[in-house]
Amino acid sequence: MADAKPLYETYTRAPMVFERGHGVWLETVDGERYLDFAAGIAVNSLGHTHPHLVEALKAQADRLWHLSNLHEIPDQTRLAERLTAATFADKVFFTNSGAEALECAIKTARRHFYVNGQPDRYRIITIEGAFHGRTLATIAAGGQAKYLEGFGPKVEGFDQVPFGDFEALKAAVTDDTAAILVEPVQGEGGVRPLPKEMLRELRDLCDEHGMLLILDEVQCGVGRTGKLFAHEWAGIEPDIMAVAKGIGGGFPFGACLATAEAADGMTLGTHGTTYGGNPLAMAVGNAVLDIVLEDGFLTHVNDIALVLRQGLASLKDRYPDLIKDIRGTGLMLGIQCAKSNADLVMAMRNEYILGVPAGDNVVRLLPPLIVSAEEAREALNRIDAALGMLSQKAQAS
Ligand SMILES: *Cc1c(COP(=O)(O)O)cnc(C)c1O
Repeated sequence: MADAKPLYETYTRAPMVFERGHGVWLETVDGERYLDFAAGIAVNSLGHTHPHLVEALKAQADRLWHLSNLHEIPDQTRLAERLTAATFADKVFFTNSGAEALECAIKTARRHFYVNGQPDRYRIITIEGAFHGRTLATIAAGGQAKYLEGFGPKVEGFDQVPFGDFEALKAAVTDDTAAILVEPVQGEGGVRPLPKEMLRELRDLCDEHGMLLILDEVQCGVGRTGKLFAHEWAGIEPDIMAVAKGIGGGFPFGACLATAEAADGMTLGTHGTTYGGNPLAMAVGNAVLDIVLEDGFLTHVNDIALVLRQGLASLKDRYPDLIKDIRGTGLMLGIQCAKSNADLVMAMRNEYILGVPAGDNVVRLLPPLIVSAEEAREALNRIDAALGMLSQKAQAS
């Protein structure tokens, strides 16, 4: 029945139906090609149908799909070894999603204080405009009224402070504060990078008070900003970090990374997952890392980021009535609109390029990290054309 809609109507869906993808390109059932600067919201980090990922997934599909975590999963151990070797972390817990990686991060922080004789020290400070997922705990952490409304009592233990206000943050610390949780670059909040200086101050503040620093790198991690993880730009290390999106290149999985000390409460039986870290996910995860850790990969990200950044800056000069600000870092860029961001997303769609709306009236550009300079210039041309159309319309009305 056409009007008995079987899906929860929690999304407005764009009218195009995509059938296949390759690299930075998506093709509809009607054969129309779109430049994909949305990448499934920063998920298709290596573009669509990357041959190395396709091969890894197919080979694993022929061998073994799923095993519970009651068994050794060698590729899971191997991916954890590679992630810990490449980061601050000593320990990894694999999940199916970003929100679950955050749940694990929050539980890890709370358990740490519990096993160290401070069971009441479970509060976590978060930042306005944050997005940490849609589970009950992560909507409480994100603190956004629009996601909390109607879902009963908010999970206790999260204290929120305004973005960029270090004094307010310091004032929010109490003896019961276990951790500070931030995105180094806010994604849904409107591509707002936390100043490097502030990340360093947060690290110092945590050290001073014996609190844990939890970073949500679900969107900004895995090469997106031109470093393997965004916090590396500030030269600091967290105690716990949530990762997802780009790490699976389109296969749904996430991970919570922690130092051995921070994870000391996560003992036998304290946490679990049926699917997390299953062989299919781990095959793809290892394949993603093969590419992202290759020499020159991050240099490429930084080179392309420069092309886009400069192009967007010149578009801002040419369309001052439409663009208020260009923000972001690496291949996580935002066009803050002077008018409606939804109109720009729509105008871009008419030029066959996809972007993602975000808070603060921003359009996010999150291309696959393998985007070429030529494709980046093509994207700029299409965004230019979209802005041109909007500008004409504004003059006509
Ligand atoms: C997407 C996102 C999440 C939630 O991830 P899901 O896989 O949708 O649960 C959490 N934090 C950040 C920063 C995100 O961008």
